[in-house]
Amino acid sequence: MTLAATVIDGKAVAAEVRARVAGEVTELAAELGRPPGLATVLVGEDPASAIYVRRKREACEEVGIRSFHHEPPGDIPQEELLALVAELNANDEIDGILCQLPLPGGLDADEVINALDPAKDVDGLTPSSAGLLSRGDPAGLVPCTPSGVMELLAHAGVDPSGAEAVIVGRSNLVGRPLYSLLLGADATVTTAHSRTADLGEVCRRAEILVAAAGRPRLVTAEMIRPGATVIDVGTNRTDDGLVGDVDYAPAAEVAGAITPVPGGVGPMTIAMLLDNTVKAARG
Ligand code: NAD
Repeated sequence: MTLAATVIDGKAVAAEVRARVAGEVTELAAELGRPPGLATVLVGEDPASAIYVRRKREACEEVGIRSFHHEPPGDIPQEELLALVAELNANDEIDGILCQLPLPGGLDADEVINALDPAKDVDGLTPSSAGLLSRGDPAGLVPCTPSGVMELLAHAGVDPSGAEAVIVGRSNLVGRPLYSLLLGADATVTTAHSRTADLGEVCRRAEILVAAAGRPRLVTAEMIRPGATVIDVGTNRTDDGLVGDVDYAPAAEVAGAITPVPGGVGPMTIAMLLDNTVKAARG
């Protein structure tokens, strides 16, 4: 059977965002007398985290953002990690700080996040950033993956205003901030999660369905309202390779538009990180 859905090309949209950001970086560098700077902190040797951080640093270089990289060992004491964050907070050449999560066992990620200067919080994870977003105040930095989802919707010509939106997942990184963004865009938003009684019934309401549960192929074609826009945030490494939270091929026969994995939300996360770094540098 042929695909009914339009495939939303995250790589192409991300390339557009990066090109725009590159222009802004050039202007900003002239204004500031230095390039915008992003510090990356990779604690320990988690291979997936190492790949993500490498891609983020490469993307920075490509658009002219200077990257400052720190790679402390996995057994770094909490106090030393907090001291590193304080040093990066105080460094005037650094506009954004990204501490790659998850941290190795024994380290308190919340304490590290809370120590970040909210003005440099390019992941949008500090209580200050999260609080501003939940109040609908645009002053704070917004987490990259949810803002990438909003860019993809805009690019696909999907206006959330008045639409039924369902998010599967309620993490601080994706589900919760996306709730605020979709609500801010006037959608009627439902958040489903691991205790939702009838996930299929909730998902079938959605004109916009975002899957961010980290469960391979959790969302089946039967859970999708015909013609819905389906955004798959999930990235799950399985024996079949990298798969999303949506059972892609059957889902694409029902959905109106759908993002692939890979090549959907992933590239947007990196593009929005660059965008956030420019926003942080502008102050
Ligand atoms: P998380 O584990 O912190 O949160 C998962 C959420 O899904 C939880 O709120 C949980 O309640 C919900 N959930 C789990 N099982 C469920 C089920 N059976 N039914 C309904 N809800 C369920 O994960 P996260 O950090 O939000 O990430 C979610 C996924 O998105 C992961 O696969 C992650 O790798 C991926 N991710 C991708 C990007 C990207 O750039 N593409 C960025 C961030 C996260």
